[in-house]
Parts: sequence; C-alpha cells; structure tokens
Amino acid sequence: MKKRNTVLILGISSIVLLISVQVFIIKGVWEQKDEMFNLRYRLLSQDAVTNMSLRLGTDGLDTSKFIIEGYSAQVVKDLAEIKNDSALAVKKTEVMTFVNKALSQEEDLSAYLSKYFEWQGVDKNFNFRIRVNRFELIDFEKRIVVYENEDFAARRPPQPGENRQYRGIRSSNEILVKRDRIESNYYNMILECVIDFSDKQSIILRETSASLGMSALSILVVVIIFMVTYWNLREEKRLSNLKTDFINNMTHELKTPLSTITVAGKTLEMVQIRTNEAKILETAKMIGKQSVHLNQLINMILEISMWERTQFQLDKKTVNIEELMNDVVESFKSGGGNNATITQKYNLEGVSADVDVVYFTTLLNNLLSNAVKYSDKVPVIDVEGFTEDNKVCIKVTDNGIGINKTDQKHVFDKFYRASTGNIHKFKGLGLGLYYVKKIAEAHGGDVSVSSNPGKGSTFTIILPGNSK
Ligand code: ADP
Repeated sequence: MKKRNTVLILGISSIVLLISVQVFIIKGVWEQKDEMFNLRYRLLSQDAVTNMSLRLGTDGLDTSKFIIEGYSAQVVKDLAEIKNDSALAVKKTEVMTFVNKALSQEEDLSAYLSKYFEWQGVDKNFNFRIRVNRFELIDFEKRIVVYENEDFAARRPPQPGENRQYRGIRSSNEILVKRDRIESNYYNMILECVIDFSDKQSIILRETSASLGMSALSILVVVIIFMVTYWNLREEKRLSNLKTDFINNMTHELKTPLSTITVAGKTLEMVQIRTNEAKILETAKMIGKQSVHLNQLINMILEISMWERTQFQLDKKTVNIEELMNDVVESFKSGGGNNATITQKYNLEGVSADVDVVYFTTLLNNLLSNAVKYSDKVPVIDVEGFTEDNKVCIKVTDNGIGINKTDQKHVFDKFYRASTGNIHKFKGLGLGLYYVKKIAEAHGGDVSVSSNPGKGSTFTIILPGNSK
C-alpha cells in the first residue's frame, strides 16, 4: 500500500512538474511568436510606405492634408478670437473632430498596405487607424496647441526643471506603420499610422500548433505511461493478494480431509475398534470419501495449471442435452445435495449439443454445489434449459446469499473469492467458477451471472446448439 502511494504521489508530482515546464515553454514560444509577428508586419508595412512614396510620390495622406489645410485657414481666425476658456475647449474639440474625420476617410495608404501584404502572401485582415498625437494651428507667428495625446506627451524627455518619470512604452497589439510630422502654413500635425489584426491570436495559434501539439502529445504519452504502470502495479498487487488468499484457502481445504484421514487412521489402530466391524466399515468409508475429495481437489489444481500451458482437449459427443442435464442433477441429488430442493424445467425437446460429457458434468456440478454452499437457508435451486437463437441456455438459480455488484465482475477470475468467500465459513479455492467459464468457453459458449445480494443468484450458460 505504502509503495503504491509513493508511486502515485511521485507520478502525479512529475506529471504536474512536466505540465508546468511545458506551460512555461509554450508561454515563452507564444510571446516570441507574438513579437516576431509584430516585427514582421512592422518591417513589411514600413517597406510598403517607402515603396509607396518612391513609386507613387505620395505618402497616402494627400487628400486629408488638403482638406485640413483649408479648414485650418478658416478656423484659426475664430479660435484666436475666443477668450473664454470653456468656449475655447469646446472649439478645440470641434476642430479635432473635424481633423479626425478627415483622416479616417483617407484610404490610400490602407489600400496600398492591403495590396502590398497580399502580394507578399501574408495576412491582410488588418484594421488601419491614423492617430493624431499633436495638433497645432498656426496664426502667423503664434502656435495654438489644439490637442496633445497624453501618451505622446509622456514620451517626450522632460524639460529642464520638469520632474517627470519615464513611463515606458505601453505594450499594445498595435503595429506602428509610420510616424509623421506634417507642417503647413496653417497647421502643424504629428500623427502615427497603426494597424492591428483581430485574428492575430489564431494566426499565432496556427504557427505554434506544431509545438503545441508536440507538447500535448508528450504530456499525453507520459500520462498514459504512468497510468499503465500504475495499473500494472495495482494488478500485480491484486494478483499477489489473490495468490496469498489461494495458498491460505488451499492449505485449509487440504488440511480438513487430511486431518479426518489421520484421525480415522488412529481410530483404526485402537484395540477396542478391531472387534467392531460396523465401526471399521464406517471409518474405512470415511477415509475413502475424504481421499476422493482430496484427489478431486488436487486434480482440479493440476488440471488448471496444465491449462495454462496446453490447449483444452475436449472429447465432444453429440448428446441429448436434456437427458444429460437430468442425469447430472439426479446424481447430484443422490450424492447428498444438502437437503436442497431442486426443480428442473426444460424446454429442450429434440435439442442436442456437442459437449464433452465429463467437463459438462463438472460444470453443472460446480454450479449446483455453489448454489448449495453459498446458502444460509434450506437451498431451493431451479435448473432451467431452453433454446434461444439456436443456442442452448442453461440457468441455475438459487435462493442463497447472492453476490454484490463488484464481486459479480470478478467471480469468474482465477482464485477470486467474494469478500464473504474468504471467510472460512464457506470453504473453497476460488477456482470453481473459473473452471466453469473455461469449460463453457472451450465449448464455444459463455457464462454470466446476475444476482440480488441476500436473495439469490442466477448463473446462465450459453452453448452452441445442434438442433435436428
Ligand atoms: P469457491 O467456491 O471455491 O470460493 P468459485 O470460483 O466457485 O470458488 O466461486 C467464486 C466466488 O463466487 C465464491 O467465493 C463466492 O463468493 C461466489 N459465489 C459462487 N457461486 C455463488 C452462489 N451461487 N451464490 C453466492 N456466491 C457465489
């Protein structure tokens, strides 16, 4: 138990460690890809801007510049005359609304970028924006600052005597295409053109999918290896427990007839017994019965260990299955049957099956003796036989202690005894049902169990039929 827990803890810790390392690596790869993405588009768009101005002789903002120039010439006069601060602020906002609108209608640069990206074979689903960082109107010698972007102002080095900390570059998903300063007679404007990609994450995901896939695969492989190892360890532990139980049960099973035989032998040695013929006969019968039982036990163990190495050898004969079942049940009854009430119900007229009579007898006997053995009251057993889809079905139902759901899954396993089975109240080696299953399978059939704990169990054997 301790070893298993240590393996479990160690395994889970290593998996957690592995996943953390992988997450750390993937995070690094993702950030790198993100940077590479920004850099690639930054270089490409700057290349596009240079190309545009060299080939077309324009920076793509001509229309806006023209409109803003005309507007500035008119508005600068009005602005210069306003003395009231709040009215001035309202006017400035109005000016900026106009400037921004004029710039947002400029499409030359964005269209050129789109064409350029397409030509380069890269993604072109970007959003284009022109942002004004500073706008001044010029009234002869006087400059009126209409607007200055807070972020842009913060990027300027402090003036002498000014105490301002460097704010650092705000990280953003925007990619800078160009920064420009436009000077004309009536205005002065510093602007920047930026692009961003709404599907950037999915592009990066596509690019990193190979490394992501590899990481996920390696984690999966480690988890699977761990689970298989852990499962093997549990299985090994279960088998070793079963073997220990088997040895205990076997010792107990063999000891009982042996001690009876020893006591009987001692009895026969006694002088006063020698004249009592009836007692001698009774003791000899007891020795004989116990020897047969001992022999059966040893044979079953030997046979099972032989099956492990060689194939099941069946000596099949076509038999009338109803007759055979009736014979087995009747001889079971006459052999004791512990006062069990056994009823037989057959619907097998004319049905024959190819079976090995010896093995089939053992199979039915095992089911009947279990039905008697695992009973806490007077056993009432129903034996049924009928056909279904050209198959022979045999049901043995008892009113015994029943088997719980978990045990039902394992009762046909070698050495398995249900939790109640290991109590020496019910003797056994955990081999009877294993034997039944092996025999049924060797005949091309199967066995199953259904049970109601406390009420009884039904074992169903299905064998290939041979109806004529
Ligand atoms: P054994 O009887 O030697 O223990 P078996 O392989 O015949 O081994 O049975 C395996 C286990 O299945 C038993 O330990 C018992 O707990 C359970 N079992 C088998 N038959 C019955 C039955 N008719 N009713 C209740 N429990 C049963």
